[in-house]
Amino acid sequence: CGIVGYIGERQAYPVVVKGLKRLEYRGYDSAGVALIDQQQLSIHKKKGKVADMEESIVGATLGGHIGIGHTRWATHGEPSDRNAHPHRSASGKLAMIHNGIIENYVAIKEELMHKGYQFLSDTDTEVLLNFIEDIRINNDCPLEEALRIALKRIVGAYCILLIDEDDPDTILAARKGSPLVIGIGKNEHFLASDASPIIEYTKEVVYVNDYQVAIVKKDELVLKNLGNEKVTPFITKLDME
Ligand code: GLU
Repeated sequence: CGIVGYIGERQAYPVVVKGLKRLEYRGYDSAGVALIDQQQLSIHKKKGKVADMEESIVGATLGGHIGIGHTRWATHGEPSDRNAHPHRSASGKLAMIHNGIIENYVAIKEELMHKGYQFLSDTDTEVLLNFIEDIRINNDCPLEEALRIALKRIVGAYCILLIDEDDPDTILAARKGSPLVIGIGKNEHFLASDASPIIEYTKEVVYVNDYQVAIVKKDELVLKNLGNEKVTPFITKLDME
């Protein structure tokens, strides 16, 4: 139900967790984060409140300058630790969070199971994630391209954030039907479902439109449509209350 992402020079975990707490008003049943630190992807997730997730990982090393976080409102699969986001791809390399519903996930899941994929959750999200990974492997293409190809084949609503252990300098984001805001800082970017997690860091934001993919690095934001054409980001100034 809520998503947060951070890439920049700060420690990502505190920014992401604080952002998730700002989104708690939207309601949710589980929470989780994924971080990449020293080329290592780690995922922590838990049924319950953000505070339950935090408690469950006391003592864990939570470093890294790139992170994504999610609060889930279950639509496919009961609320549980294993159905909580982020999900990890079959290769172990990718992590993804998703708000929304993939309507044609059953057909894609069957296709992937036929190829030998196994699933660790009951979610539509994990299906989309492995679908993206499968396209990347088969086409031997950049993840960004695999994401666009996958999005052209799915039906439904989504806001997704996707990270790759082998590319700790990039967050890929996309939306259709679910909101996505990107805050522009100095050598850092913030991503969220609405501006509330962002406003304390920057007033400059970009509202991503449907069928756009954002390639977000700490010092660069590129927006593209699904046809791989660049779109100029329209920067809005948030109003101060
Ligand atoms: N459909 C996804 C799930 O059930 C995402 C739900 C959400 O928007 O939080 O896991």
